[in-house]
Amino acid sequence: MNQDLEKRIQTLAQWLYESIYTVFFSGAGIGTESGLPDFRGPDGVWTRRDKGLAPRSMDKPWDEVAPNSGHYAIVELQKLDKLKFLISQNVDNLHLKSGIRPTLLAELHGNMTKLRCTQCGLTVDRTEGGSTCSCGGPLVSSVVDFGQPLPQRDLAFSFEHSRHCDLFVVVGSSLVVTPAAEIPAEALNAGAKLVILNAGETPFDKKAHLRFYETIGRVLPTAVRKLKKLMGLFE
Ligand code: ZN
Repeated sequence: MNQDLEKRIQTLAQWLYESIYTVFFSGAGIGTESGLPDFRGPDGVWTRRDKGLAPRSMDKPWDEVAPNSGHYAIVELQKLDKLKFLISQNVDNLHLKSGIRPTLLAELHGNMTKLRCTQCGLTVDRTEGGSTCSCGGPLVSSVVDFGQPLPQRDLAFSFEHSRHCDLFVVVGSSLVVTPAAEIPAEALNAGAKLVILNAGETPFDKKAHLRFYETIGRVLPTAVRKLKKLMGLFE
C-alpha cells in the first residue's frame, strides 16, 4: 500500500476515534463492489448513457445481491457505537441486509423491498403483502421516482443528524442530486470534518478535509481495523 494512502487511512481512523457524532452518507458507489451499477462512476448508468451505451446488465438477480466489505465496515462501526446515523440514497436494501439498525438509517430514495403508506408514511415489507395500511391509506412502492417528493421523515432526520455531527463521511456518492448536494453543506456549517470516498469528482472536493479516490473496499475496512486498534480492541 502506498504511503500516502496509508497515511490518509490512519487519519480517517484517528478522526473516527475522536469523533463523538459520526454520520455516514452512502450512494450508489458503495454498491459497485456488490456488482450493482452506479450512476456517475466510470461504468455508471448516466456515464454510459452519455456515451450512447445501455446500462451494464446486472450480474445476478436482486435478491442474490449481497452486501460487501464496505457495507460491513459500517456495521462494524455501529457495533463499536461509532455510528450515530447513516443516510443512504440507495434503494437496494443492502444496508439493512448487512445488519444496520433501522433506527440509524434514513433511506432518502426509498427501499425496493418496502411499501409506503401515502397517508401516514408508514413503511412495511413487500412480503407482508396487502395494498392498504392499518390507517386505511393506500400502500405503494416506497421507491422515489425522479421528480417525486422524498420521504419527509427520512429527510428531516438526515438534516437533523447532519446539523449535530462532528464527522461526516461520504461513501460512493457524487453529491450532485438534491438533497445530496445540501446535506454535507449542513454538516460543514455545523463545523464537522468532511471525508469523501468516491471514485469520481464531487462539488465538495475543495471543501473536503480528507479525500479518497480509491475503492471503498480498499479504504473503509482498513480504517475500521485501525480504529479498533486505537480503541484498544484486537481482532
Ligand atoms: Zn398509513
